[in-house]
Amino acid sequence: MTTTDPEALADRVQNGDLRIHELEEHVDADTAAEARRLFVERETGTDLSTTGDYAFPAEEADSAVENMIGAAQIPMGVVGPVDVSGSAADGEHYLPMATTEGALLASVNRGLSVIRSADGADARVTKNGMTRAPVFRVEGVAEAAETVEWVDDNVDALREAAESTTSHGELLAVDTYVVGDSVFLRFAYDTKDAMGMNMVTIATGEACELVEAETPASLVAVSGNLCSDKKPAAINAVEGRGRSVTADVLIPGELVEERLHTTADAIAEANTRKNLTGSAKAGSLGFNAHAANVIAAAFLATGQDEAQVVEGANAITTMEAREREDGTTDLYAAVSLASLEVGTVGGGTKLPTQAEALEILGLRGGGDPAGSNADALAEIIAVGALAGELSLLAALSSRHLASAHEDLGR
Ligand code: NAP
Repeated sequence: MTTTDPEALADRVQNGDLRIHELEEHVDADTAAEARRLFVERETGTDLSTTGDYAFPAEEADSAVENMIGAAQIPMGVVGPVDVSGSAADGEHYLPMATTEGALLASVNRGLSVIRSADGADARVTKNGMTRAPVFRVEGVAEAAETVEWVDDNVDALREAAESTTSHGELLAVDTYVVGDSVFLRFAYDTKDAMGMNMVTIATGEACELVEAETPASLVAVSGNLCSDKKPAAINAVEGRGRSVTADVLIPGELVEERLHTTADAIAEANTRKNLTGSAKAGSLGFNAHAANVIAAAFLATGQDEAQVVEGANAITTMEAREREDGTTDLYAAVSLASLEVGTVGGGTKLPTQAEALEILGLRGGGDPAGSNADALAEIIAVGALAGELSLLAALSSRHLASAHEDLGR
């Protein structure tokens, strides 16, 4: 006899009669989550009433999580308006950010307010290509060269194979790398409004079948880590992955003094010594103060793949004191994110609160033309990151960072 009572189902899991991932085979997703929660409560003595108090049908999360017991609720706020003039983003947008770091939104908001007073920031996506790099085995360098030659001569055929799996993705390039008896092919795609990892993995898998049929190479893994997904990697910092996006602003010297309580020269010096010299000495891939803070909070709010904050942190912040003819000094500030992997369709963007967050930005779903919503999201996040850089560097150079944290974060 089957039961739909959560207590009885939790009993069955506890007795070993039912496995924890089999509950959805017997009841709807919400009841399965409740039974699993009861089981975990009994096993661990933890009260999971808050975890279980989520506000969406569990079945809407079935492509986002397995073994669901509830939801981790992260406080979400907004900063803005973000005043941006971009290739896709234009005008003023409120940027939702989910975080547990006190003082973060207040700091970003201060930077955004200064950016607005400076007539807004410019932002541009300068490169776009989501990558997947399979690794193949060959006998030795002769076969490796034969494989590379075939690939170079047959990009059109590879494109046809790859694009047969998707109505949106477009193959842009295939870069080849040889290491001993391993051949890596780094496929790069325009994935339009999708972040695109599933899309490009499926497309590349199809192209790999052609490579195996036409060359001596045998596929070892569809991802050979030269992609490079969710790991710190120089290739992403140099070649880009997802969107490469830069935001910049010119802030009049008076504004720097009145609102940031420091000078253009002091901020520029702090940036050079900290973000450039200090990061170089540390061997860091991130030549910035805390771009990952804004990226992580925006990713959590809008349903991006949070592990890809790793690539998002590949950012260089540049600041320059620019002397005007009247002798005063303005501050030029820019942040260049080499590999920001964002989407407005697919993955976690479909989940209810994440979709609402994209709605706040006016960027939910596919753009017109396709790709414009994800471009706009990248440009807005870049301006948010720029605001965070400005505010933190100003705080450091005017030395009131510790007091701000004391007031707001504790
Ligand atoms: P997805 O949810 O798997 O697919 C999105 C699909 O939306 C596209 O393939 C496309 O279908 C369709 N689509 C509709 N309108 C579109 C538009 N305007 N622009 C682009 N596509 C549009 O999402 P994904 O972005 O490919 O992958 C993201 C997911 O992959 C996340 O959940 C992430 O956590 C996960 N992930 C996977 C891997 C992996 O190796 N597989 C690695 C890291 C992360 P068509 O292709 O049919 O056109």
